[in-house]
Amino acid sequence: MVCPVAAEITSVLLLEYDAKTLLASHAIPVPKGVVVGKGKACGTPPFPAPWIIKGQVPVGGRGKAGAVKKALDIPELTRNFDEIMGLKVHGHVVEECLVEQAVPSVGEHYISFSLDPETAGVAIVLSSEGGMDVEDLPSENLAIGRSPLSEAEIKAEITRLTESLPFQHRKTIRDAALALATVFLSSDLTLLEINPLMSCADGTWIAADAKIIFDESALDRQPFMEKLLSNRQQAYASDAFKRTEGFDFIVLDSDGEIGLITTGAGLTMQVVDELADQNVTAHNFCDIRSGMMRGDPARLIRVLSHFATESRIKAILVNIFAGITNLGEFSQLLIKAVETADGPNVPIVARLIGNAADEAAIILNESTLPFVVESDLDAAIVKVAALAKGEGAANA
Ligand code: GDP
Ligand code: MN
Repeated sequence: MVCPVAAEITSVLLLEYDAKTLLASHAIPVPKGVVVGKGKACGTPPFPAPWIIKGQVPVGGRGKAGAVKKALDIPELTRNFDEIMGLKVHGHVVEECLVEQAVPSVGEHYISFSLDPETAGVAIVLSSEGGMDVEDLPSENLAIGRSPLSEAEIKAEITRLTESLPFQHRKTIRDAALALATVFLSSDLTLLEINPLMSCADGTWIAADAKIIFDESALDRQPFMEKLLSNRQQAYASDAFKRTEGFDFIVLDSDGEIGLITTGAGLTMQVVDELADQNVTAHNFCDIRSGMMRGDPARLIRVLSHFATESRIKAILVNIFAGITNLGEFSQLLIKAVETADGPNVPIVARLIGNAADEAAIILNESTLPFVVESDLDAAIVKVAALAKGEGAANA
C-alpha cells in the first residue's frame, strides 16, 4: 500500500553531533567527542590526540570544503578550530565544531538506509569503499537493495547484499548494518547514512560520520528526539521557528539577492533552481501556508521585517498558488504587511495564480506600492532576476 503523503509531514536533518548522540543511545560505537560553540575557547579535549575538528553544518562534503581537519597538538587544534569556525560551507556558516578523538582506521566503508517513497519500503546501499569520493564509485562497487518496512526482511536483505562485498569486509559491514537497521526503524528515520564507517585493526567498527533525517511527524512517540531537539533549539533555528510560527522559513544563502514569499515546498524548490538558472541566488526557502493566515498579515510582516534587515536582498518574489485562499484577500494582507513592516525598499514581483487572481492583480496594480504583477511563473522569475541585477527592462 502506498501511504498518502500529507503536507504536514516534515523532517529534520540532524547535525552530526546530534546524530551521533542518537546512535550512541542505541549502543552504536561512535568516536569520543565534544561540541564547542561560537565564542567559546576550544581548550584541551578530555581525550588524547590526534583530534579531528569537524564543522557542524547540515550539509555533506565538509571534508572537501575544508571543514574537517586533523590536529596533532594543541596549537594545531586551536589554529584549525579557528579556521573552521565561521567558515561557510554550501551556504551554511559553521557556528559550532565537534572535536573528536581520531579513529585509527584500516578501512572506510559506506552504509545507508533511506525510506523509498516508490515502494513505501527501505532502500539499502552498502559499499566496502566509503569516504569522501563515494559518489564517484562505479555502480559495481555498491550493493544496492530494497526491502519492505519489516525488520526481519531488512535484515535478510542486508545479509544477501553483503554476500557480494569483498570477503575481508563482509562481517564488519554486515554487523554494522544489522545494528543500524534497528536504529533506522525504531527511531522513525527517513535517512540513516554512515560514511565513513571505519573498521579498526582489532576487527571492531565505528561510525565516523553520520547523516540522519528524522521524520518529525513521529515526534510524539520519540521522547529522546523530542528532548534532543528542544535542548538544541539554537542549533535548529528553522525547526524551532516552524514549530512556534506554524510555517517554514529557512535561510538558504545569506548572500542571496532574492527574498521569497512562497507556498508549497516542491514549487518553492523549483523556484530556487530556476532563479539559479537566471544567475541569481534565493536568500531563503519559504512555505508561508497562505491558507492558515486567516486574515492576519502577521506571517507576511514577520518575513518582510526579516528581509528589511538583509541588505543583500535586491528584489522579492511572491509566488502563491491558491486553491482555497482568496487571492484578493491575500493581496490586501500583502499591502498591509508591506506598509507595516519597516521596509524593505526593494521591488516586489507578485505571481498570484488561482482563486480570485484577477481581483488580486487589480488590487496590487491600483495600490501605490511598486508591485510588478506577472501571472506567468517563468516570466516572473526573469523579471525578479533582472530587477535584482538592477536591469530596468523588467519594468517594461
Ligand atoms: P563529510 O565530508 O561532510 O562527509 O565529513 P566526514 O565526517 O565524512 O569527514 C571527511 C573525511 O575525513 C572522512 O571521509 C575521513 O576520511 C576523514 N575522517 C573523519 N573523521 C575521521 C577520524 O576520526 N579518523 C580518520 N582517520 N579520518 C577521519
Ligand atoms: Mn561523511
